[in-house]
Amino acid sequence: MAADLDARVHAIVRHAYERAPGFRRLMEEAGLTPDDVPDVEALERVPVLSKDKLVELQRQDPPFGGFLAVPMGELKHIFLSPGPLYEPHGPDEGWVEGASEVFRAVGFGPGDVVVNTFSYHLVPAGLHLDMALRALGCTVVPAGVGNTDLQVAILRDLGVTGYVGTPSFLMALIKKAEELGINVREELALARALFTAEPYPPSLRRAFEGTYGLRTAQAYGTADVGLVAYECEAAEGLHISEAVVLEIVDPATGRRRPAGEPGEIVITNFNRTYPLIRFGTGDLAALTEEPCPCGRPGARLVGILGRVGDAVKVRGMFVHPNQLRAAAARFPAVARVQAVVTRPEHRDELTLRVELGDPAADKDAVAEELAAAVRELCRVRVDHVLFVEPGTIADEARLIVDERTWE
Ligand SMILES: [Zn+2]
Repeated sequence: MAADLDARVHAIVRHAYERAPGFRRLMEEAGLTPDDVPDVEALERVPVLSKDKLVELQRQDPPFGGFLAVPMGELKHIFLSPGPLYEPHGPDEGWVEGASEVFRAVGFGPGDVVVNTFSYHLVPAGLHLDMALRALGCTVVPAGVGNTDLQVAILRDLGVTGYVGTPSFLMALIKKAEELGINVREELALARALFTAEPYPPSLRRAFEGTYGLRTAQAYGTADVGLVAYECEAAEGLHISEAVVLEIVDPATGRRRPAGEPGEIVITNFNRTYPLIRFGTGDLAALTEEPCPCGRPGARLVGILGRVGDAVKVRGMFVHPNQLRAAAARFPAVARVQAVVTRPEHRDELTLRVELGDPAADKDAVAEELAAAVRELCRVRVDHVLFVEPGTIADEARLIVDERTWE
């Protein structure tokens, strides 16, 4: 298996080098030839191609920045994603099967009637997931975005059993159905949902799975590479599709980070039409190598934190506002929290400023437990916890303030 993956990596790097002049230029600038990348390990030598860089390269060398590796006439679709980025799709090369694998893991199959609420024009999500669902034997309602009233009628009239889209839009549909007097559990056949393109907060999961009795799972993907990771029934991180190599790297250096340490998600696919080799998604997450109860092998993505640009690096570890939010949410007595990073004596210091909502709270206990929660979630030790008067931290204030100077 590992040897097979090594061979696939070497083959796609060679293919891209020979057929895609944009990729060849990146390799030449780094002083590399395909023989320098014989395996997954050596992939780390290839520079990361960020989404911003790809947008820039497409602008310089339209339409595809020199990354198209087949003649234009072989393309089946050309999509346009925000960026703007043109995305050429050729004949299926296993990505439909990859996305079907994700749906199958969540229990989608023949007999399901599924509303697909992703957009069907310009961006690839709608069509791409539609093909994957049909390949599994599902019946698809290409509902697209919006039209809440109409979509509620579709759910009821067609006996829809499955949903694919964002968690917030499904909640909007359920709320609308309830407004119209529909008992969602009794009168709708909705049984399962696959969410992507948006974080899936625990509060929504409790509502969908508890209150409404749905089986739900989230998947991770981007417009550029499709769905590449998904939750199994254990919901303890996202399994990574065999259709890609997924690395977690330091965005500044492109070097891999050890398991457990957050970094940028970097994807290599094996798409011969439009190979993306070490594509930097700009999304921040970590990997775990703990075995999953479901028995599927391989590392899993954990804690998809948000965008790299929103994170601040403290003593070499990324701290993202969403981690801080999650830590603070554990403490009802904490009304507001803000992290301040300073650098006295050339060493990063992390200070938490805390506003208490409950003046009677035990400050020592809150300080100790909050610092422990931040350390657990961000893997960075808190140096100081400072209680400030209510109203000190403004509504619109940043969650993490970087006050370091680098003289
Ligand atoms: Zn699993």
